[in-house]
Amino acid sequence: MIVLIVSDPHSNLTALEAVLADAGRRAPLDDVWCLGDVVGYGPEPAACLARIRAVASRCVAGNHDLAAAGGTSTEEFNPAAARAAEWTAGQLSEEDVAFIMSLPLIDAGAPVPGDGGQGFTLVHGSLREPIWEYLLSSEQAVAQFKRMTTPYSAVGHSHVPFVAEDSAALPRLRLLNDGDRIPLGDRRLIVNPGGCGQPRDGDPRAPYLLLDTGAGVLSFHRVQYDIARTQRLMAAAGLPRSLIDRLALGR
Ligand code: ZN
Repeated sequence: MIVLIVSDPHSNLTALEAVLADAGRRAPLDDVWCLGDVVGYGPEPAACLARIRAVASRCVAGNHDLAAAGGTSTEEFNPAAARAAEWTAGQLSEEDVAFIMSLPLIDAGAPVPGDGGQGFTLVHGSLREPIWEYLLSSEQAVAQFKRMTTPYSAVGHSHVPFVAEDSAALPRLRLLNDGDRIPLGDRRLIVNPGGCGQPRDGDPRAPYLLLDTGAGVLSFHRVQYDIARTQRLMAAAGLPRSLIDRLALGR
């Protein structure tokens, strides 16, 4: 089974479509898992939600999803993010809002058929703080491993792609580069596929992970997309300049 693992599309349909196409060219996709923040920041929230609903069998809620649906406050947001959340809320239908509110915060998942019973837990931030914690340190990885009931977990939220291995020593977060392969061995893993719709690791290309359960390997990839198209749509929608500019920088 081939699964695309994607996080933080953030209403950037152009980036999401590029990821779906690029992943599909590598191998026919059997499934898509999304780690939340389908909306927020970008110009096409409703279309992004529709696309994720159509292709993903598993999706957890992110802080931006819940903020746009009225399920959490924007108090913790910076002013640009709060303005984008307010704009996004006005773009969503009742059905969109109901879909977001139906998403779980944690999906501890059924075992993937054919992978020997090993499974992935999906959560936007962390198991400790499902929509708010940025899992970026060894100490936080230890806390995550303690709470995991499956061998693997996938997180988003920080928009920084990494893998952490459960080891006797303090687990280190290793940043992922285009083409990296991560064998699913006998140690537990936490992975982050990066922020598909708003990369923040200095590379503006859209990132994603592919899970090949037959081969027992995860691979990390990046794909160019038409950033200018997303930026034009954001400008037309009157979204904050800082959010438009950062897409080209990947920061
Ligand atoms: Zn996000």
